[in-house]
Amino acid sequence: MSLLQTIRQVRGAWHTILFVAMVKLLCCAGCRLPEVRGDETPAARKVQQYQSANFLIHTDLAEEDAQELLERLENMLTLISRYWGAPSRKKIVCYIVDDTSNWPAGSLSPEALATVSNGGITNAAGVKRGRVTDMTAVVYASTKFGTPQHEAVHAYCYQAFGTTGPTWYAEGMAEMGNYWVEGDESVNCPDYVVEFLKSSPRPTLQQITDPDHRTGDGWKNYAWRWALCHFLSHNPNYAERFRVLGVSLLSNRGGTIERAWPSQMDELEFEFQFFLDHLETGLEAKRCRWDWKARFREASSKAVRCKVDAARGWQPSLIKGTEGQKLRLTAEGQWTTDVNEPPFSGRGSPVTGKGRILGCVKNEKGLSDEFVIIPDRSFSLPAEGDLYLRCEDEWTSLNDNDGELAISVSAEIAE
Ligand SMILES: [Zn+2]
Repeated sequence: MSLLQTIRQVRGAWHTILFVAMVKLLCCAGCRLPEVRGDETPAARKVQQYQSANFLIHTDLAEEDAQELLERLENMLTLISRYWGAPSRKKIVCYIVDDTSNWPAGSLSPEALATVSNGGITNAAGVKRGRVTDMTAVVYASTKFGTPQHEAVHAYCYQAFGTTGPTWYAEGMAEMGNYWVEGDESVNCPDYVVEFLKSSPRPTLQQITDPDHRTGDGWKNYAWRWALCHFLSHNPNYAERFRVLGVSLLSNRGGTIERAWPSQMDELEFEFQFFLDHLETGLEAKRCRWDWKARFREASSKAVRCKVDAARGWQPSLIKGTEGQKLRLTAEGQWTTDVNEPPFSGRGSPVTGKGRILGCVKNEKGLSDEFVIIPDRSFSLPAEGDLYLRCEDEWTSLNDNDGELAISVSAEIAE
């Protein structure tokens, strides 16, 4: 190697070092929980270490509970690293605190002590070399309310991407990790979250995703962020683009909901409001999706055919009409809403209340009340607009429905 080459190498090395900077990031979720409602006194236990492929935890939980938590964390990590397309780079170290009195003095920092009785905190520090950030995150979390899973999502994001993204995304996705149940995509957040979201005035999308929000600003804001992230990641109309938006946010390439769906904001707003209107434990966002590509024709004597799936919400009849217009519907095929009930074959009325054909009209003002349609009998539209159909059932129990009806709708001809 020539002297000149050596000098160039040394210069190169110095050049690299100039770009090395310490990064210290913090996520505090200390005030995201409503209140601690523990009524049992935790047992006195020693702090022990347990580990799995991707986690090292220090905890005063009983061994059985610690192993169960590790398994849960590993399963969640598999799911989120697949979702974001990035493996977890190194072990995530967690301090999981059941009762602070079990922890020797000085083993938890004052900052950690202040949060772990009612939430959690994830500290991340590392070095940045050009565009590459090498971060190490440490989780301090209460054992309560799924906090370890919530904080582990932050830790994974720091270690895999160097950031957790803007507050609405970071906390919304961490809450999804918190409530996640393997093999179940339905709404499964605690009842107090559902009750709050149903009974509170709704913020706009701009308010939920406000870039000036900071983490740890209260469980109510976390609830709205969760609702938005849950809706966007489970409704097939938005899920894939939402995942791409998320990877962009985590890669510091920026992005907003408005820019991700520039021509679909009306549709997205409508579906998000519809999701909130029907929010209950067990609701599945994918089953309430709307078909925006459907083209509706004016009702005429010529029947228009469509298929209606028993396991989904409103589906387009492909017919539109005027207020009071009389229509007639015929149905073939069969569907069931309950394995213990006889299937409805599209003739007359089903034996039970469930399984009937329901209609509603959608126009620029919104949705009409729903109404029952009996096959082979005339019915009239309650408003001008597009006719949508569904199988009558509770919104939270569509998943066990089976079958579909081939339906034809035509305008009734005056005799
Ligand atoms: Zn958080």
